[in-house]
Amino acid sequence: MLGLMQNRPLLISTIIDYAATYHRATEIVTRTVEGPIHRYTYETARTRAKRATKALNRLGVGPGDRVGTLAWNTHRHFELYFGVSGMGAILHTLNPRLFPEQIAYIANHAEDKVLLVDLTFVPLLEGLLPLLKSVAHLVLLTDRAHMPGGKLAKALCYEDLLAAEDDRLDWPEFDERTASSLCYTSGTTGNPKGVLYGHRSTVLHSMAACMTDVFGLSARDCILPVVPMFHANAWGIAYAAPMSGAKLVLPGPKLDGASVYELLDGERVTMSAGVPTVWLMLLDYLKREGKQLPHMNRTAIGGSAAPPSMIEAFEKDYGVTVIHAWGMTEMSPLGTTGHLKGQMRDLPYEQQMHYKAKQGRGICGVEMRIVDDAGKELPRDGKAFGHLMVRGPWITAGYFKGEGGNVLHEDGWFDTGDVATLDDEGYMQITDRAKDVIKSGGEWISSIDVENMAVGHPAVAEAAVIGVAHPKWDERPLLVIVRKPGVEVDKPEILRFLASRLAKWWLPDDVAFVDEIPHTATGKIQKVALRERFKDYVLPSAGRAAD
Ligand code: AMP
Repeated sequence: MLGLMQNRPLLISTIIDYAATYHRATEIVTRTVEGPIHRYTYETARTRAKRATKALNRLGVGPGDRVGTLAWNTHRHFELYFGVSGMGAILHTLNPRLFPEQIAYIANHAEDKVLLVDLTFVPLLEGLLPLLKSVAHLVLLTDRAHMPGGKLAKALCYEDLLAAEDDRLDWPEFDERTASSLCYTSGTTGNPKGVLYGHRSTVLHSMAACMTDVFGLSARDCILPVVPMFHANAWGIAYAAPMSGAKLVLPGPKLDGASVYELLDGERVTMSAGVPTVWLMLLDYLKREGKQLPHMNRTAIGGSAAPPSMIEAFEKDYGVTVIHAWGMTEMSPLGTTGHLKGQMRDLPYEQQMHYKAKQGRGICGVEMRIVDDAGKELPRDGKAFGHLMVRGPWITAGYFKGEGGNVLHEDGWFDTGDVATLDDEGYMQITDRAKDVIKSGGEWISSIDVENMAVGHPAVAEAAVIGVAHPKWDERPLLVIVRKPGVEVDKPEILRFLASRLAKWWLPDDVAFVDEIPHTATGKIQKVALRERFKDYVLPSAGRAAD
């Protein structure tokens, strides 16, 4: 017997309609690519989203077509989230930090029909143009006064397109499983693969993002996503903010400590979200300038592990609670968030840190389990670690155009490629990407644990641990370190520091100091590049073992 409830489809257009109706005058504030701060309301955002729909229709875009963007977090990008998906077309957010050949591959694979681009990326675009096969129209996300000449003289002007339309439009209704947006993940091997979100998955994921023990968004919040709108829909915040009626602050192209701080302070931001490297810049700025964050009460950190030293700095020095978050593009992206439970509130801080340093508890809607190489489920005891498998209504069932074949295991489980533990309180901890674990004498060493410890040293700005070939143990860890500017520290000091905090056999066999650690286009440490750089590295212990 079926229930007797109304079967209204879960559509993205209902989110902007809700915000424009119930949070009409709530602001969206943007640091524009052109420079000045821009302000408007959810009501105006909806008006412009509808105009964008009409303008795109006029350019030949219809349901199912892909519309690409190369854009920062701005009000124009926000409008397109609703203007494109609202009509049943697919918003394809391209990551401008990728190499031009990768961007071209992705845009061609997606068959983007129209490409909308921020002015920052005009030089990139000039190089891309000859490589793009499907793009019929280029639109620059700016006004007439800022339109460039040169090779892009024929590109269309976004503000002109919108000015030519009105907002008389009823959003169409269609199946809630219709595709809404597309985001490619660049795996370390093979070509990038497209994750194709749907309206239903997006609305459910946005509701989850608003939950108290996830981001806990409300109409009293002011939220600034530093995480880009081209990285898994800014972790869902681009939808969750209007869904909760929160004020939204969009930082545009400037993500340095001073610029982010200016918005956090000036707009009275209560919550933010970003990857650890961005927060390193902010914490550094705050310390140098002696600034505080009086309005902000929490921030989500994810994309890579948040080191305990970073969590502690936010919480103890600035009164900002850290929500450690884990997820992946394939999961829309939220999988876990790390809030304490009631009974943990009275624990001493060090014991709370035991849980805070983990990636968090599963969100209702996300099933998780860990399995061994043979697929057998492992215990949830916080000790056993294995391949982390997930299942749920906002988790991918396969990549766009069937790339990668059938990605689901028996009973619909998706292998995240992460190795993790699950404890009896439901907290998950990532030990590594499966590809990055260091296999030493048949046992696994977690590079994340060693990195977390190393960045706890006051002279260390960033740390990465990779496995290096070893004649006796197969692999042993090499610790690669970037020192903080103007600070001296040597290998014996680092090893002494780690020796009191790590099991002896986890201690790195050597320490290499470098000026910079390479990052991926989504801000993660590029372990593949590091391994390549150190592939012929001979550990001091390797020489001894060979003797
Ligand atoms: P992406 O699809 O680019 O968002 O990358 C997803 C991957 O980032 C995950 O599979 C993890 O390996 C990693 N990741 C995300 N959040 C965290 C976190 N909090 N701690 C450790 N790794 C993370």
